[in-house]
Amino acid sequence: MAKLIDPFNRSIEYLRLSVTDRCDFRCSYCMPKSFKDFAEPEHWLSFDEIERVIKAFGALGVSRIRLTGGEPLVRRNLSDLAARLARLPGIEDLSLSTNASQLTRHAEALKQAGVRRINVSLDSLRPERFRAITQNGRLDKVLDGLRAAKAVGLAPIKINMVAMKGVNDDEIDDMVAFCVAQGYTLRLIETMPMGSSGLEASQQYLDLREVRETLGRRYDLIPTVMSGGGPARYVRVKGTDLRIGFITPISQHFCATCNRVRLSVDGTLYLCLGQDHHFELRPLLRRGISDEGLQQAIIEAISLKPEQHEFQDKPEQVVRFMSMTGG
Ligand code: SAM
Ligand code: SF4
Repeated sequence: MAKLIDPFNRSIEYLRLSVTDRCDFRCSYCMPKSFKDFAEPEHWLSFDEIERVIKAFGALGVSRIRLTGGEPLVRRNLSDLAARLARLPGIEDLSLSTNASQLTRHAEALKQAGVRRINVSLDSLRPERFRAITQNGRLDKVLDGLRAAKAVGLAPIKINMVAMKGVNDDEIDDMVAFCVAQGYTLRLIETMPMGSSGLEASQQYLDLREVRETLGRRYDLIPTVMSGGGPARYVRVKGTDLRIGFITPISQHFCATCNRVRLSVDGTLYLCLGQDHHFELRPLLRRGISDEGLQQAIIEAISLKPEQHEFQDKPEQVVRFMSMTGG
């Protein structure tokens, strides 16, 4: 099997595939309040085009694909796409990141299509606060979506909580209790300064090393590993099945082991979450490039992958919004 190796000797095995830049929420750290600048659907890769690109990545050793967005469930017929991708040679793991607001009606079809596991964004368990963070999101819909996912056997279910100073840092204990009771994994994420929401994000930044210390005084935390290839550092809470992951792009960045690239809905391959290095695949696809040519283009693109992000050194550097590449 071919392998994609970047200039810093990292093996690229994981692709985050953004299937839309639209979303039914407007989380303050992810999208600007006034966001209307949606890419036109004709610029979006079709399912046929996406399938070709993922097939090429599969042939080059990428085995794990995560469907993301924007909110992936707002892309019509997502489960059809999932079924097509799950069947491709080399693709061993198909997962989904979602806000779960529409998961109730999609969970069964996604499971049937071959999605195995999901990550759900959930920053608050208080309906009013949840509504404020997401700018109108309904917590009850998300909780229903989570129940539906559990009922159809999507597992593991990981809760992604962006921990924000003065916003939801008083809810970490509640979220621990919720995840213990429901059998979910909890992942705490440091806010990254993305897009023009960067300044607000910097003000809300919470160093998760402090959170871990606080949790460590309350619970017995045993370091553990969890499959899934993400950058989280996990602990298990002694006496429970709960695993807590800490994703610390700012306080302890994990660029040295970065194994991923991101494809946006318009066919741009982004080589780093925090840098602008990118490569346009859509023009090649629409010019009728061969399968071999597409693989060569991907190899060329990977040679552009930068060594690391600079969130800490240049927090004011404006990169795109997270909603474009799906986190
Ligand atoms: N809509 C889906 C969701 O919310 O899970 C998928 C896309 S969303 C962009 C993916 C993840 O990125 C979410 O867990 C979200 O909380 C996280 N995210 C977005 N903006 C962020 C930021 N500025 N800093 C840290 N995490 C962020
Ligand atoms: Fe939408 Fe997810 Fe971004 Fe929130 S984090 S605005 S749910 S894409």
